[in-house]
Amino acid sequence: MSIKKKIPLIFCILVFLILFTNNAFHYIRSKNQLLKYNEIVIKMIVKEVSFQVKNTKNSSLYVEDILGRDLRTASLVIKHALPARYQDITNEQLKVLAKETGVSHITLLAKTSDDIIGVKSSDSQEIGMSTKGWGYWYDAYNQLFSLKPVSVGKGITLPHYWSGPIEVASSNPNHIDKWGYYFDGSTNYMINPYFRDKITDYEKRFGPWKIIQDFTKEEGILELTVFNPKNFGKKKEVVHLNGNKYIRISAQPIWYGKYTYQNIATDTRQIKKAIKTKNIQTYRDSLNGKMIMKTFVPVFSKNDQPFVIGLVYDYGLIQAELVHELKVHILLSIAIMIIVLIVSFIFSRSITQPIGYIVEQVNEIAQGNFGKNLKLKRKDEFGMLAENVNAMSNRLHSYVEDLNQSKELIEYQAYHDPLTGLLNRRFFQEKLNPIIAHANETGETVSVLFIDLDRFKQVNDSFGHNKGDEILKIVAHRIKECFPADDHTIITRQGGDEFIILLQNLTLHDTTTTAERIVNNLKKPYSLNGQEIYLSACCGISMYPDHTKNADTLIIYSDLAMYAAKKAGGNRVTVYSNKLNQSDIERPRLEAHLRKAIENEKIDVFYQPKINVNSGIIFGAEALVRWKDEEFGVVSPELFIPIAEDTGLIQPLWELVMKSACQQVSKWNAARSLPLSISVNFSARQFQEPYNMVSQVKEILFASQLPPENFEVEITESILLNNSTEIVQSLESLQKMGIAVSIDDFGTGYSSLSYLKDLPINTLKIDKSFIQNIDQDYGNSEIPEAIINLARSLHLNVIAEGVEKEYQKEFLLSRNCVQMQGYLISKPLSKEDFEDFLFKK
Ligand code: C2E
Ligand code: MG
Ligand code: MG
Repeated sequence: MSIKKKIPLIFCILVFLILFTNNAFHYIRSKNQLLKYNEIVIKMIVKEVSFQVKNTKNSSLYVEDILGRDLRTASLVIKHALPARYQDITNEQLKVLAKETGVSHITLLAKTSDDIIGVKSSDSQEIGMSTKGWGYWYDAYNQLFSLKPVSVGKGITLPHYWSGPIEVASSNPNHIDKWGYYFDGSTNYMINPYFRDKITDYEKRFGPWKIIQDFTKEEGILELTVFNPKNFGKKKEVVHLNGNKYIRISAQPIWYGKYTYQNIATDTRQIKKAIKTKNIQTYRDSLNGKMIMKTFVPVFSKNDQPFVIGLVYDYGLIQAELVHELKVHILLSIAIMIIVLIVSFIFSRSITQPIGYIVEQVNEIAQGNFGKNLKLKRKDEFGMLAENVNAMSNRLHSYVEDLNQSKELIEYQAYHDPLTGLLNRRFFQEKLNPIIAHANETGETVSVLFIDLDRFKQVNDSFGHNKGDEILKIVAHRIKECFPADDHTIITRQGGDEFIILLQNLTLHDTTTTAERIVNNLKKPYSLNGQEIYLSACCGISMYPDHTKNADTLIIYSDLAMYAAKKAGGNRVTVYSNKLNQSDIERPRLEAHLRKAIENEKIDVFYQPKINVNSGIIFGAEALVRWKDEEFGVVSPELFIPIAEDTGLIQPLWELVMKSACQQVSKWNAARSLPLSISVNFSARQFQEPYNMVSQVKEILFASQLPPENFEVEITESILLNNSTEIVQSLESLQKMGIAVSIDDFGTGYSSLSYLKDLPINTLKIDKSFIQNIDQDYGNSEIPEAIINLARSLHLNVIAEGVEKEYQKEFLLSRNCVQMQGYLISKPLSKEDFEDFLFKK
């Protein structure tokens, strides 16, 4: 279900529940209130009626008394008006007399032998009436006839006179009469005047009848009855006299009011219960075709008999009232519900509509349609949300635009080398296979040219990486120069100083010519800050499909050919052939093996003696690292030192060599009168953190107890060319300790000689290539001679390495260079062999 429908539904259910409970409560309360109100009304009525009843009783007694006395007065008047014998009196006479005296009737009673009977009367029904069965009334008559005072204890007794209590007339039970009886012995009859229904009239006029009538006119009150609890529901109280049937006044079950809503059995029970419990009793029933509520209220008074006031209430009225009220409430509730429904619908729309818009906008964003703006003019949370969604969409829009713009740049960068602008390794790798596949289809050839600069590392070390980068840019430019401007040859930079060129459909001959053109072009001097730098390059060539049909192998073969060119002295082009040294292919594995060898300290140090040819004294030795791998056999330092330098293994390697050389020489020196000086080769890498290196040297010397004077550092010119003050300072501090600094392979670098004199150097070591170039007739000896002279003029020590031939030694001696190192004296020796060499000589 949608939120739009849910909100009104929830509201309506809530409001319905509230209204329902409210109505239910109200109904119950109204009912109780009505009943309570009813009770109050009933109590009030009962109070009034009971007051009237009690009042009437008292005033009735008073009126009765007066009537009784009036009847005596009438009796006296009657006695004087009539003759002494009833036989002389006519009934007509009595009628006239009754009128005159203001009584209802006059009856004359006479005594017979066993009865007292009515002998004359203005009321024909009284004539011949027997009184024998009248109980105390008969007793009173007899007492009167006997001229005794009446002592029956009821009514009024005066001299010769008695008036009985008001009673139903046994001769005519439809009437209630008040009788007076007079006999003074002067007549043969007893005078009996009486008032007929006088008291009833009185009561009707002034008694509770009136008020009962009034109340029953009130709305809802159907009937009011004053019950005599003593006699209500009893049948035996009926008296049979003078052929008539009636109930005595005192035994009347109902004193006042009507009793039309009859339910005798239940009412009898209720009345009794009311008297017994002294509590109001109520019940509901359907009588005379009406829903009624009957209430019985017991009334007690001190002197009199208690009575019960019964009230019949029209319960239908209460119900009608309640139903009416309920109807009004339900109608009101329905109206409220409709209003709530409308309001909640409007409210829910005001929520769901903006949500709908926002959802639409978010859908647009989800589908990638950015930059569309939602116009929701609201200042609430929805307005804010819409604004934010718009902002998000706009931001995404400009972001995507930026992204698209930079996509080209990224694509360019993905396939180009940022330094040289040439295509990169990734491009090459992605392109090679498709090109080979194409060549395979067309039968064309593919040539791979693997170019690597010679000694570029030295340039980097010497001039710094920035300059190195400058040179690489020039190199890239020079390679491009070798191809026509609109040529689509794939020229790539693989990293470092490695470049690969892909040539399509060229013969081996043409490929080689191109390669040579490139190598020659790269050989030209490079001008950097006014300084001329000479570089060369090697190029290895492999051809598809002649050498291999596999793309990966094609690269490896060109690499291999390039290495072969390096080995052959650099500055050349080599075409792959399967005769190329296998171990060159294994460079990565070689590296792994080397790493392991260093970890396991499976590295040896050989010692090559340095000798003073004049004195024949072995004054020192050069420590040269040796590695014999189980798989690759003896690997030349020329091969693995560059690998160690490239991979950072050179530092642990150096430490190994340092430690074992120093310990070893220290041991030998202990047994020598003339201590040996040991020289160790330092790579440029060792000078990356020069101060660290100095303290490490100190530590190792100290640990091996080798005096610094017996230690020499061999560095190449390139390290010094760096011109770093840190390096110079570190060398100076080494010197201060007594350590000698020797420049290895002197003459091969780019040193401008002038700077030498300011540097912390002790020895120049003439590169072996210059020594080996010396001819037998001392031809080609200019460079070694110049170096010797230079050393001398700078007061530096000079030593020649790579002395193989006797005439080379001779030449050196003739130029006064007495310190020598070379196969002529000894090849580098294992420590055991060196020991032999040292001590057996
Ligand atoms: P280098 O420092 O110039 O060492 C001299 C090299 O010349 C050694 O080659 C040595 O065996 C060789 N040699 C000595 N006398 C003669 C000779 O009369 N004729 C010929 N043809 N060669 C001779 P090796 O041991 O193969 O070392 C090659 C290079 O490897 C060393 O050149 C040095 O630069 C480097 N190297 C060797 N050991 C270490 C080392 O422990 N650390 C460092 N960083 N480099 C080392
Ligand atoms: Mg050396
Ligand atoms: Mg050397």
